[in-house]
Amino acid sequence: MHTDQAPLSAPVAEHRFACAKCDQEAGLVQLFERPEGGVIIRLSFTSRLTLGVPQDASARVRDMILAGDVQALYEFDLEVASFYCPRCHACYCGNHWVRWDVFEDDAGITWHDSIRGCCPLGHERMLED
Ligand SMILES: [Zn+2]
Ligand SMILES: [Zn+2]
Repeated sequence: MHTDQAPLSAPVAEHRFACAKCDQEAGLVQLFERPEGGVIIRLSFTSRLTLGVPQDASARVRDMILAGDVQALYEFDLEVASFYCPRCHACYCGNHWVRWDVFEDDAGITWHDSIRGCCPLGHERMLED
């Protein structure tokens, strides 16, 4: 039985983070539980991210999401909180992050490496790697 192909049921925790500037949705973080461990799904302006959570961290991540503790989520994995500026301690939506793609070049092969962004106060960070 391919449990990793099974459809996800309802999330055990979910939090919508609003933009500090305009109150629009900056990101949605959900946690699903499967027998083999947790799965975080993060929906935001950069992309939809799926991230496996080790079983021993699952309860901790659930509490962070239920509490809306975006700083803790950022520290757990910065891409889960891709919409969060740790220097402002605030979340921003896609209209308020200035973002750009970073390309790496090696021996003539160029690939998309990461997305970097700048918050409304000019703090730069990597949004997604
Ligand atoms: Zn900032
Ligand atoms: Zn905004």
